[in-house]
Amino acid sequence: MPFLIRLLPLLICLLVACPGDIAREQFVTPIMGTDLTLLIEGSDSARIKSAAQAVQAEVERLNNLFSTWIDTSALAMLNRKAGEGWTEAAPEILSVLRVALEYSAASHGAFDITAGPLVRLWGFFARVERRPPNPEDIARTLTRIGSEKLDIDFANGRIRFDIPGMEIDLGAIAKGYAVDRARDVLRSKGIGAALVNLGGNISFFGLPKGRDSWSIAVRDPRSREGLLGTLNLGNNFAYRGIASSGQYERFFEYEGRRYGHIIDPRSGYPVEGILGTTIIAPDATRADALSTTTFVLGPDHAVEFVRELEDVLAIIVLVSDDGSIHMRISHALRPYFELAPEAGEVLLDSF
Ligand code: AMP
Ligand code: MG
Repeated sequence: MPFLIRLLPLLICLLVACPGDIAREQFVTPIMGTDLTLLIEGSDSARIKSAAQAVQAEVERLNNLFSTWIDTSALAMLNRKAGEGWTEAAPEILSVLRVALEYSAASHGAFDITAGPLVRLWGFFARVERRPPNPEDIARTLTRIGSEKLDIDFANGRIRFDIPGMEIDLGAIAKGYAVDRARDVLRSKGIGAALVNLGGNISFFGLPKGRDSWSIAVRDPRSREGLLGTLNLGNNFAYRGIASSGQYERFFEYEGRRYGHIIDPRSGYPVEGILGTTIIAPDATRADALSTTTFVLGPDHAVEFVRELEDVLAIIVLVSDDGSIHMRISHALRPYFELAPEAGEVLLDSF
């Protein structure tokens, strides 16, 4: 069932037939709790298949490094050493942490890779019947949260957790990192045009044969299948990262209220007020971190935050008081975005 639920990643790519001798192949693999979808174009089918296999192997390798669901992953083993002094950390864990800490600092703690114990307390790391935890447990768990309680010695490649029970959860950034590495593998295999989508984290390069753009759909956060519109970016933003976050990815309902998997580490409660965010950033690692960060920052601060960042564009999806959609989109992105007729009444403004 989890795979079925994830069949519709936040951003999906619309396929068209390929004219001429250029073939487009699609490969879908369940991994990292979502689907890895590869669209690869070329005239050499064997080369395409071998490139797809190399990408799948690379993402599998990264899953074995970063997953907190796999007991033997490098990150799970590191987490088990919390409170036991300095522990050596894999170079790729450190390089992802470097980006994560940059945005933790910039967002004053809204983005925090130590939020894991809260996500667990709210039941999102287990397949249990979920209900809100009691405030005392939230307060107690908050004492184990905060990346300032991590000592990271980048020069010597080691980490020390100040408090036992702390953990690092890269769920908000590792998929983006995997997309960057997937893109690198495709380029190194001589692929001329491809799009990688790992659960709404996207990178592309080259143009689909006979078309002037890949077409990237922005999903309607209110429904599983609806669209708000499409981004037709042409060759702009090739090799960069596009990522989306939303509570509709994983949530539960309790007494008529919806609680999602992105938690504000400053309050200990799931974020409310934003329906979804889509970010375009210089790479997919940053886009992934920033889509989560802006989501946590909420409607009042997300736009200001994005304005301050260089080379970062955003779509912030909010809900108006009457339940209709309010989309705020970066000026520079507006020419590439087309509203879907099915989106219904949408207030769209640029910032
Ligand atoms: P994403 O889908 O990239 O927005 O990441 C969501 C995931 O990030 C959640 O499922 C949690 O594992 C983790 N997470 C939840 N809240 C936070 C937060 N405030 N900062 C960083 N990661 C978080
Ligand atoms: Mg993210």
